[in-house]
Amino acid sequence: MKKIRVNLDRRSNLSYDIFIENDILDRIGLLIAKKNVARRYIVISDSNVSSIYGEKFLEILRGVNLPADLIEFPAGEASKNIDTVSSIVRKLIEMGADRSSALVALGGGVTGDVTGFVASIYMRSIPYIQVPTSLLAQVDSSIGGKTGIDLPEGKNLLGTFFQPKMVFTDLKFLETLPDDEFNNGLAEIIKCGVIDDVELFHLLEREGEAIKNRNPDILETIVERTCRIKGGIVEIDEKDAGIRRILNFGHTLGHAIETASGYTISHGNAVSVGMIATARISEKLNYLSTGERNMIEKLIENTGLLNKIPESIETADIISGMKTDKKKKGDSIHFVLLKKLGVPFSNGSVEKRLIRETIEGLR
Ligand code: ADP
Ligand code: ZN
Repeated sequence: MKKIRVNLDRRSNLSYDIFIENDILDRIGLLIAKKNVARRYIVISDSNVSSIYGEKFLEILRGVNLPADLIEFPAGEASKNIDTVSSIVRKLIEMGADRSSALVALGGGVTGDVTGFVASIYMRSIPYIQVPTSLLAQVDSSIGGKTGIDLPEGKNLLGTFFQPKMVFTDLKFLETLPDDEFNNGLAEIIKCGVIDDVELFHLLEREGEAIKNRNPDILETIVERTCRIKGGIVEIDEKDAGIRRILNFGHTLGHAIETASGYTISHGNAVSVGMIATARISEKLNYLSTGERNMIEKLIENTGLLNKIPESIETADIISGMKTDKKKKGDSIHFVLLKKLGVPFSNGSVEKRLIRETIEGLR
């Protein structure tokens, strides 16, 4: 079993381990029992994940004599709201959960964000454990301790930084993950290869077929490498101030495309074409070589992720969805750019004219 330790603030009570392996469900119970973070566990899961894994997970905890209950909420990003939070909280109260209880987030990013948020505020905070079941949650949202919910005014507007006690990443969950969701995770993995780990980048190039077939050995390797990168960055920069910004590579444009599409384009696809655009901008500004820019485009294309911006999305809508750089009189936008593969820099300022031209070039 692979184990990654995330050390935060050098305060040992804030550090935790990420366990990664294929088919560890049977051993999770014992590991949780040994860690002894609570007397009682409440598993929180969305309706999809709960129907496949909910009962099994309860059996695992009960099998090692840990009292366990399940709270289910409807699957989907639309559930990431204050109503879900208050309904979970009220069920917790009804069940008699107290400060000697812990929550277990069994599910994708939505489950992790909601559960972490509830854990951080319920009775002034109780511990929680992450069991990410989507590829995106395994490599991205389960690391870093960001919790939160959406408001009608925008995404993630209410939230906290709250670290889990342990994270269990079992590749076996991915067997039942729908293709689109799998691709969302792949986009973040490619991003980590591009900004930090050139070896990972080449592995993704070589093993495209095995990854598509969800070969658990390859998945274990790429998930582990990606978790190490994200964990390492979060360690240096827990509260999202400086270096953590490089994780936004491809996201400035990606988010704007996702929003301008009315969320008909998935996060992974939007970030993918956002990465291509950003690589092109980096090339046009004479940072990135044409050869490496090409390699990035090929990898995204071969992985089956979005590499063009659909005509139906207006350039002006994409541009207006990005925050302008106030110091530059609103004519430019802040970007994480690339000097070369594995070498990003976060203080790039890009003129809107160049962004517009790059978007048009991707039609
Ligand atoms: P994220 O992409 O951030 O993980 P969600 O938590 O909404 O977002 O998960 C995406 C979708 O995938 C949800 O519909 C969720 O129920 C579903 N899902 C997550 N993990 C699995 C799994 N292992 N098997 C099947 N469906 C899953
Ligand atoms: Zn992302």
